[in-house]
This record gives sequence, C-alpha cells and structure tokens, in this order.
Amino acid sequence: MVTTLSKLQNYFSEIEKNDKKGNKINAFLQLNPHAIDEAKKIDEKIKKRKAGKLAGKIIAIKANINIFGMNASCASKTLEDYKSPYDASVIETIKREDGLIIGFTNMDEFACGWSGETSAFGVTKNPKSLEFVPGGSSSGSAAAVSADFCDIALGSDTGGSIRVPASHCGVVGLKPSYGAVSRYGLIDMSMSLDQIGPIAKNISDCALLFSIISEKDENDATNIGSKINLKEIEKISPNLKVGILDFKIHDQQIQKIIDENISKAAKKYKWKIEKVKLDYIDFAVATYFPIVYVEFFSATRRFDGRRYGKRIEEVCGSEVLRRIIGGSEISKAEHAGRYYYLALKARKLIEEEFKKTFRKFDCIICPTVPRLPHKIGEKISIEQMFQYDALTCPVNLSGDCAISIPIGKIKNIPIGMQIICEKFNEQKLFQIARSFEK
Ligand code: GLN
Repeated sequence: MVTTLSKLQNYFSEIEKNDKKGNKINAFLQLNPHAIDEAKKIDEKIKKRKAGKLAGKIIAIKANINIFGMNASCASKTLEDYKSPYDASVIETIKREDGLIIGFTNMDEFACGWSGETSAFGVTKNPKSLEFVPGGSSSGSAAAVSADFCDIALGSDTGGSIRVPASHCGVVGLKPSYGAVSRYGLIDMSMSLDQIGPIAKNISDCALLFSIISEKDENDATNIGSKINLKEIEKISPNLKVGILDFKIHDQQIQKIIDENISKAAKKYKWKIEKVKLDYIDFAVATYFPIVYVEFFSATRRFDGRRYGKRIEEVCGSEVLRRIIGGSEISKAEHAGRYYYLALKARKLIEEEFKKTFRKFDCIICPTVPRLPHKIGEKISIEQMFQYDALTCPVNLSGDCAISIPIGKIKNIPIGMQIICEKFNEQKLFQIARSFEK
C-alpha cells in the first residue's frame, strides 16, 4: 500500500538523486526537517479515518510564504538567516487538512524576475529541457512538480510568476482572482497584485488545493475567499462562448498549437469561438511596472537590517536593487501624478475592458507566454524579458482569474495555454480547463 511516508521517502530519494546531484535541478532551498514524523502522524490518522482532505498529498512551498520555524528566505541574502515565527494562513489551512509540507522551493529573489535566474542561491533548471530556464519567479515550485519531487506546490503570482513557470515546465498553474486566497504571511512583492496559487500535475489536484486555501480569512482585509464544488468540475459547460485573444506574437508556432487545440475542443463540445481584441493590453507591461516598483519599494522598507536579517540594499541582487531605486524615485512627491497615478488610471481602463469583454464571452484564451524560454546563462535584453509576462500581467491588473495548462511541445519545450475567466469564476475556469485536459 502507498502510504504518505513511503511516498515521501520516494520523493526524498528523487530529490537526493536529481536536485542537488545528478541533473542538479536546484528546485529546493530547504527540506522540512520534521516531514518524516509528520508523515507518520498523517498515516495514523488515515488508518483511523480521521484525516483531512489533503491527507496523502505532499506539497512544496515557495520560499516567500512563512512556515513556522523554517527559513522563508525569498531566495535572498537579506533573509538568509530569518526563521519564520508563524505560519501563513494558507500554511495553517494546509496543515489542518493534513497536507504534508516537503520543503521550501527556489525562486527569483523576492519574486522579482521572469526566469529563476535572480535567485541568490543559484538558478533552477527546467526539468523538461535541462539547458533552458524554467520560467519565474516561482521557478522552484513549478520545477519541483514537473520533476516529480512532490504532488503539488504553492507559488505566488504578481504578474505571471505561477503561470509562466507552469507553462515552461509543462504543468498546471492557477492565478486566483485577487482576494480569493489569503495573503496573510506572504512576503509580498506588490500587495495590490499578488496572489498565492497552486501548481499541480493535473486540474484535479490544482482545484483540490485551491478549494482548501480559498477559505475566507479574517487576517487579510483584502480577502473575500472563493468557493468551488470539486464534483462540478467534471461538468462541461455547454454553449460556451470562447474569445481567442487577437494579439501579435512572434512565435507563430506557439499560436498554431493554441488554435488547433481550441478548434478541436470547440468542435467536440459545440462551443462558439470568436477572435477578441483588447485595445489596452499593449499597455499592460508599462502599467504594471510603475505599480510594482512603488509597492515593492514600500514593502522592502522593513528590511532595514534591524528587525529582519540584513539591510536589503547592501546584499540584494541587481534586479531587486533596480526596483528599489526605481520605486523610490517614482514615488517622490515631485513625480506625483506622473507615473504611479497614471498607471493606476491605465489599470482601471484595463480592468474595465476585461469586464466588458466578459459580458460577451465566458473566457478568453491565449498562449500563456508568447515566446519560448531562453537558455540558462543566455543574455537577453530587458525588452525581451518583458515579453514573458506580456499576456499574464494584464490579468493581475484586472484582478480576474487565469490558469495555464500544458497543451503541446515545441522541440521538447512545453507550451502552456492560458484560460482567463472573470473574477471569482474559478469554478467555470476549472471546468473549461478540465474539458481540454480530457
Ligand atoms: N516577471 C514579473 C516581474 O518580474 C512577475 C513576477 C511575479 O509575478 N512575481 O515582476
């Protein structure tokens, strides 16, 4: 019989073989030192039929979510020696439902990045194509699921950080609606955009973990929670109206894979499909960064070297420093109204445009990432970097929900398809995603 303990031991030996040695994926920063004991306790509960809904599931956590007694370092030297004094709300609910936490995963430093290369503790490799980046910033979480080091993982997504690595690593990744999942205990990058979400091997595990962490939480004032019915996910929504995003991407091969998949599904389920243009989507990246810079700058002021670890400016990498300096500059009084407020106005337009589109369409579908990942170590321009989340960051700005599901491959590199639904329609989102998975 497969027990939680035997499963854990298999995962540990896989990690031993291929994470630090062998293929050196480098998905994990720290393993849970109490995992073996915790697995035994969960197995006892399973025997007595007293176990929670996540019993038997082994879950990896991005290193920016607090777990009591462990080192939520955010892959930064700043918090290298920080021990979390509490559990984030999502961790509390996972533990209560007997999910087993296997460890902390690698990431871009403070979630600032696209590829996993800004981690202070070394880049993570893409398990499906070792010389390529796995995508970021939840690089280790997506890689851990893809390399079969765990069942499910948690990531965080400010502009694409769950969906982009899920796409490149060939796994499923959900960015919940803003307010669906508690951010209490998440070391945030940009508080008005961040959401914690699951990365999994299939829709059913993704939905299961989401159903647990989307419980309403009083500790986070922006949290509303979101309810889904797991059985209903198997139902295919009839008479769907699907909008295919009209967006110019250079890699026509990627669009072709998406189009083929949509046509097949539309024929099978009798969905109506139509091209849809979003006028403001081209401004999304330019809108996203001023907001991120200002909010990140403000969030990092507590890393002053007195309370937590080291003074951030003295030890952080160049991407983090760029955002701190940029954020301090554009939030100066003399620039008020120029960048940040302008960005907030543009954000409103993007939100309105999505809202209007959802009056006509049940969902919008597009590639998750309009380009293939680059090779590890390859130098690419910042403009090329920005392409990674050109299609994911609009959904953070609008606050809607989106999922990336694996849909094909180009030369061994997985391709993800993004499905976007209106805020708090995760149920419908999972149903549509499941129709493709079938
Ligand atoms: N790549 C984007 C950025 O660097 C998104 C990161 C994220 O979602 N945390 O800001």
